[in-house]
Amino acid sequence: MSLKSDNLCHCGSQKSFETCCEPFLSGISLPATAEELMRSRYSAYVTRNVSYILETTSPEFRKYYNPKSIMEWAVNSTWISLEILSSSENRVKFVASYLDENGSLMRHTENSRFEKIAGRWYFMDGK
Ligand SMILES: [Zn+2]
Repeated sequence: MSLKSDNLCHCGSQKSFETCCEPFLSGISLPATAEELMRSRYSAYVTRNVSYILETTSPEFRKYYNPKSIMEWAVNSTWISLEILSSSENRVKFVASYLDENGSLMRHTENSRFEKIAGRWYFMDGK
């Protein structure tokens, strides 16, 4: 079932989900850039794909993440939009807008760091 009748990707790229984040989320292809990985991780929150969020977190940082709390955050939030403010080779600055569990509009701004290990992009950390 599609969440949007026009089937645009959750990440705001204006591409269809099938040609944007879905191939990454289903493991058919790998994101070529840090921004593509960032976008696909946002789509993973929207589609509650916790394993994708963990798999794309740098092995060095993965231990700090708890699958249960990721799922709780994903489920309790109503995802509205992702806006990329700027991106470079290994950094992406973005605003993710969502309604929290009380229905309050939240705007989460983050400057995320990414690293490429053996040809795959991983999320490291964000400020
Ligand atoms: Zn996308």
